Amino acid sequence: MFGQPKGRKLPHPPKAKNKLIYGVVVAILMLVALFSARIKSQMIQNLRQSDADFQVHVIDVGQGDSILVCADGHAMLVDSGEAASGGKVAEYLDALGIKEIDYAVASHFHADHIGGFSRAIEGRKVGTILEPECPEALIPTSVAFETYLEAVEKSGAAYQTAKPGDTFSLGNAQITVVAPGVMDEENLNNDSLVMRITYQHTSCLLTGDMESSEESWLLEQGTDLQADFLKVAHHGSANGSGEALLSAVKPSFAAISCARENDYGHPAASTLDRLAQVTNEVYVTADSGTVVYLYDHETGHKWVLTEKQEETP
Ligand SMILES: [Zn+2]
Repeated sequence: MFGQPKGRKLPHPPKAKNKLIYGVVVAILMLVALFSARIKSQMIQNLRQSDADFQVHVIDVGQGDSILVCADGHAMLVDSGEAASGGKVAEYLDALGIKEIDYAVASHFHADHIGGFSRAIEGRKVGTILEPECPEALIPTSVAFETYLEAVEKSGAAYQTAKPGDTFSLGNAQITVVAPGVMDEENLNNDSLVMRITYQHTSCLLTGDMESSEESWLLEQGTDLQADFLKVAHHGSANGSGEALLSAVKPSFAAISCARENDYGHPAASTLDRLAQVTNEVYVTADSGTVVYLYDHETGHKWVLTEKQEETP
């Protein structure tokens, strides 16, 4: 005879109180998810309704960087956050209907920039992968770098090391590589790929995690660095974005990509102070969520959309 062996008790059904707590937690989580989806979809809707033909999206990936540049239906993805953020970048690209990426760029090989690369480009057609030269001694041995290399190989995309003076087009946007010019053998941040993008009467500067030594080299070249929109270097850390650079760039809008209460103290108060000297439109993804710079060439209108409204103190 089969049956319940004697002496063994059936597991207790969950107590009503536990059930209630579980139900409340699930309901709260669903509300939070629904609310954040609503904010995001509101921004995507606003983006779709805008007539901007040039857009620079600083996607909120927490502590890391991921920047999407769109021009006339063409797309360039610069960095993709940590591995855990790859899915978020992929979702964002999906929401905008981006199936093809003309250029996928690694600003440098730190995990908070290339970690999400594989997930972000998965299932998408990638034209060319661009990366900076990397000193032999600083080639990472990290899982993030291995995964990145596998993704590069699997993508079947063309693969190119970018150098200062290299130029390429993205729709009607012109992209010029302006740094790194000399290799920093000790600090990979100073080997970050820096690009200036011009489109009709607007421009932007993407700086990776450039710190002061790369910044000084760049300033010595006398290259035109003026940019309406600046993606502030190295998550707004104190060791970059000096006065000389900011006065060469003269940004009207600036965005800093970092997580709330991160371990590095980003963005540094000193950097925020220096930025405040040149513009009062500084957005931090930790507070604003995704930040998008837009330009409509017909009207000349330049503006910024954010995922969240800034909190009023
Ligand atoms: Zn970084």
